[in-house]
Amino acid sequence: MRSGYRATDADDPTGGCLAGGAWLAPGLLLVSLGLLAACDSDLPSAPEPPPFEAVLVDTALLDHLNFFAADSLFGRRLASEHERRAAEYVRDRFQEYGLQPGDTSYLQTVPLPFPVDGDTGRTSQNVLGVLPGEGSLAGQWLILGAHYDHVGFLQVSEDSVVVYNGADDNASGTALMLEIARYLSDQLSGVRGTDGRRSIMFQAYGAEEPGMVGSNYFCEHPTVPMDSVVAMLNLDMVGRLRYNVLVLIGTSSSAGWIDLLAAANGTSFLSFSLSESLLGRSDQACFYLRQRPVLFLHTGMHAEYHTPYDDVWFINTEGMLRVGNLAVALLQDLAVRPDRLVFADVALKSAGQ
Ligand SMILES: [Zn+2]
Repeated sequence: MRSGYRATDADDPTGGCLAGGAWLAPGLLLVSLGLLAACDSDLPSAPEPPPFEAVLVDTALLDHLNFFAADSLFGRRLASEHERRAAEYVRDRFQEYGLQPGDTSYLQTVPLPFPVDGDTGRTSQNVLGVLPGEGSLAGQWLILGAHYDHVGFLQVSEDSVVVYNGADDNASGTALMLEIARYLSDQLSGVRGTDGRRSIMFQAYGAEEPGMVGSNYFCEHPTVPMDSVVAMLNLDMVGRLRYNVLVLIGTSSSAGWIDLLAAANGTSFLSFSLSESLLGRSDQACFYLRQRPVLFLHTGMHAEYHTPYDDVWFINTEGMLRVGNLAVALLQDLAVRPDRLVFADVALKSAGQ
């Protein structure tokens, strides 16, 4: 999530205080804007979420999480060798899964429009991997994105640092994006609807924290025509599912989202909290501003956001699997349905702020 942001109750549909009754209704679609009533201490113990069968593999998610959120990556700081190592890890997984490069190579160099540590001309990189579609739908694109950078570390004395590991922000989204890429690269091969199957581009963005520089660069230098992008799904902070409530931001960008989500939730049994307040605060923003249907999946703000305590032991892996089921089902449906989502401009002024 973009640096410098501080959640308020009005922005945060779950962060410790949930919409009244949301946790009581697993599987139902809930609109909870403005209904911030009960806090953790007011609630009876939450019921167990409904059982489900995960399509993704928890050990794979944990392997990715433990890589990105390790102290040895020093918080994946902008333009650092550690951010670069994270990008190369994503690239190596894309290669392993048989994805094709989304640019002339997997890495799209992102020039930074400001100095870093006094140096101009520094760069970050986006990592782009393609699962090609088939037939007449192959020229239409779905994008699944997540940023892999974080805010780095704090030098507290000459020989010690405090690392901001960024396990939820956004090792979680990057790990989930990778595991979905692995699953779909296998599962979708040979699958086609009546008109074939849409292509999917998996995108890992650098330089999100200083202001979504990586995703903005892709939007300004897209490697496929922007009007061929049917939908963009963004995973940012998906590791802290609580009370089985997933925050969905951007459903107003297309009238088609609600029906798609209701159908896709058949194997995840999540409760949804719909919001638009973070629409401009993560990597979906530039796609929305270019009138693409977007959906930002998010498990809510928390006390460890942008602190050195955002670590893997807080991550709800089962929750990530549940969110993974939903994202997989959405992409499977979007990949083959004959009709495409239509952008709905509901004049959400929060985008771009
Ligand atoms: Zn962040």
